Amino acid sequence: AVPLVVARSTAIAATNGLLIRDRTAFEEARKINAIIFDKTGTLTKGEFGITDTLVFDTAFTEDEVIAYAASIEAHSEHPIAQGIVRDAPETWPVDKFKAIPGKGAEGVVKDRNVKVVSPGYLRDQGLVMDDPRFETLSAQGKTVVFVLIEEKLIGAIALADIIREESASAISQLQAMGIRCIMLTGDNKQVADWVAKEIGLDEVIAEVLPEQKAEKVREIQSRGLIVAMIGDGVNDAPALAQANVGIAIGAGTDVAIETADIILVRSSPSDVVAIIGLARATYSKMM
Ligand code: ADP
Ligand code: MG
Repeated sequence: AVPLVVARSTAIAATNGLLIRDRTAFEEARKINAIIFDKTGTLTKGEFGITDTLVFDTAFTEDEVIAYAASIEAHSEHPIAQGIVRDAPETWPVDKFKAIPGKGAEGVVKDRNVKVVSPGYLRDQGLVMDDPRFETLSAQGKTVVFVLIEEKLIGAIALADIIREESASAISQLQAMGIRCIMLTGDNKQVADWVAKEIGLDEVIAEVLPEQKAEKVREIQSRGLIVAMIGDGVNDAPALAQANVGIAIGAGTDVAIETADIILVRSSPSDVVAIIGLARATYSKMM
């Protein structure tokens, strides 16, 4: 039987937008001393808008760079893709669309292979990117993606996301509760560092591929930490499963929500503070 105090706490949680799917995880939540946050869509809203367009090949205009990218991205569900499509002047038909997980997407537009990719992808391919504007934009916390046509770099698009209003105060409250706050992201290191500085994180792990996220959680657990992971994306599901407590953002993907032990219905990181506080109060009454 479920102790009355626990039943009451899960009911209180539910009326406050905290859905507890797994009671053992709720019990475990009082012992958590590290929280790993996904960046995009969790600490930030995951709502990107284009801020800058760079053209490296004068055969193309800014609008064409965006249109080629948007044609590919119209077939991707990534938040970056949605931002590019929303701000695009037009899109063209695409053949052979393929996602490049954690790195971008590609397809054939007007008979030519078009790729929209991360700085990490360029590095992997040995492509040199020495335009100083890339460094400047990254240092401003903007995510930069590159547009390649037939493997040739033609331009880049910088996008800005919005940090959730509650992120900074959630982090400082968790730190005051003795909890180490870590960010895990596939995004570029400079962008990750910028966000970390804005909201006061203890540690940043950037440029992590989707299939490496669960392994990073395991590494942090092997330091002797009891870990909650909070994420929203398809990519986050294995990491949520690996964590001692997996928490999904309510506005997240179905896969993340199905994998999580706890769901933050209001999509607010500050609700994590509430859940840990509630778990601590609930189980201290029973001891
Ligand atoms: P996150 O950890 O922030 O959810 P992802 O693993 O989804 O990040 O993506 C990591 C990086 O890969 C992004 O910052 C971006 O540079 C690149 N990327 C992934 N998907 C796309 C896409 N559809 N279009 C452009 N870039 C992408
Ligand atoms: Mg995310």
